[in-house]
Amino acid sequence: MSKLRSAMQKGKRSTLTMAETTKTPRKRTKEAVKKEEPTNPCTPTTYHTFHEPASVLQIQKKLLNWYDKEKRELPWRTVVKMTFILHKPDVNIRTYAVWVSEIMLQQTQVATVIEYYNRWMKRWPTVQDLAAASLEEVNKMWAGLGYYSRGRRLHEGAQKVVTEMEGQMPRTVDSLLKQLPGVGRYTAGAIGSIALGEVSGVVDGNVIRVLCRLRAIGADSTSSAVTEALWTLANTVVDPERPGEFNQALMELGARVCTPKAALCGQCPLKTHCHSYRKSPSTQGDIEDCPTPASCTLCPTEPWLDDLGVHNFPRKPAKKAPRVEQTLTCVARRPSEDGEDEYLLTQRPNKGLLAGMWEFPSLLLDEENSKVKQKGALCAEVGRILGVEVNKDLLSYVGEVVHIFSHIHQTYIVYSVSVEDEHATEETQSEKLQWLTRPALLEAAVSTGLKKVCLHHCYISYRSSCHSTPSSRPQRKHETLFHKDVQISA
Ligand code: SF4
Ligand SMILES: [Zn+2]
Repeated sequence: MSKLRSAMQKGKRSTLTMAETTKTPRKRTKEAVKKEEPTNPCTPTTYHTFHEPASVLQIQKKLLNWYDKEKRELPWRTVVKMTFILHKPDVNIRTYAVWVSEIMLQQTQVATVIEYYNRWMKRWPTVQDLAAASLEEVNKMWAGLGYYSRGRRLHEGAQKVVTEMEGQMPRTVDSLLKQLPGVGRYTAGAIGSIALGEVSGVVDGNVIRVLCRLRAIGADSTSSAVTEALWTLANTVVDPERPGEFNQALMELGARVCTPKAALCGQCPLKTHCHSYRKSPSTQGDIEDCPTPASCTLCPTEPWLDDLGVHNFPRKPAKKAPRVEQTLTCVARRPSEDGEDEYLLTQRPNKGLLAGMWEFPSLLLDEENSKVKQKGALCAEVGRILGVEVNKDLLSYVGEVVHIFSHIHQTYIVYSVSVEDEHATEETQSEKLQWLTRPALLEAAVSTGLKKVCLHHCYISYRSSCHSTPSSRPQRKHETLFHKDVQISA
């Protein structure tokens, strides 16, 4: 029995330190802690913790009440609910459904994920269905969602579940963590609590913000001291009876109320428990501070600024500037039998950035080169792919397209060439090379960056073909549409 639970059941104030509460309390009951004395003086070890069981109970109750009234209906929540309501408590379906949603939600906003999630679940409603799909189909389905390795890992994980685990999804946080590729501490906690009812906290970006503000943690939120403290807090505060909903409530509070730049403290169900809210000048004091800020690994090293209020927390180190890269890329096209242009695509290697995705023939530009050298290198590359000689005088410069990946500021220097060599156009589809029409290309497993290049190329071609009537109305309308397309896919 954990010390925390023991203290709660005896109705005594818990005086556990952070380290002692690291293990998740698994069977706390609310009745056991109702008799707790509600207030205790703050000590150096407790200022940044949830050290009062009665206060933890209040936080759980208030947050879940708020969530029950305010939660958004989201497709993955509906799946979880339906597996219970329909008396089909299929734990495999539930765990798989939550796993897919959690992987899609890593680094991507809820609004964007919904459509992808619905399409995915319609096509692959079970882990067995996903395992039977090809990686090409998965990449195609994932196209536009970014961070493409996530889809690949889901696919790998599904195949592992089917071939090595008899089709049974893992049943605990630990086994989720150990057995599924791409599942880290947060994702395992989220799937375990939401789908399996495991009493495990979660720490993601929203939770970091809420907990740092609640407990006035202002040291670098990426430091190991703060990370461990946050996991301890999350595991301490999670509701043992409704862990999945509690975790979702904490994340939803961070997304909708305790937001990065404009926290709505007035509407927050936890404001009376929030150290940073109480420190803010608008609350007229009731100011409580860490008793040992100079030696504390969780206190900020910079002074509190009244103007920022609760937004003083959390603090992160400055973001690393993205790496700057330039890539030469060639839009090679040929007329198809029905007269529509087809574009040459090659497949990227199966590892690394955009693994297995399709792209125009490209070369990373690693040093300053003249345009003549650029064209020569790109011609050689296109010629190598097609097995023919490509005359560099046939290449024309299209322009530059910028695309920002999470860590790369990429500029595509775009050329185009019309391929008319009989031998080259005879080249048929192969695993690493294919010719696609523009509509087919936009539906294929290609990145958003490539779609931008394609649309830019079409726009420039269209504009040059309409050069004689530059200010006509229909053309202006068309230009706007092209620009809109390019912006949408950014
Ligand atoms: S009171 Fe304000 S800062 Fe504190 S948790 Fe609520 S929204 Fe966040
Ligand atoms: Zn401190």
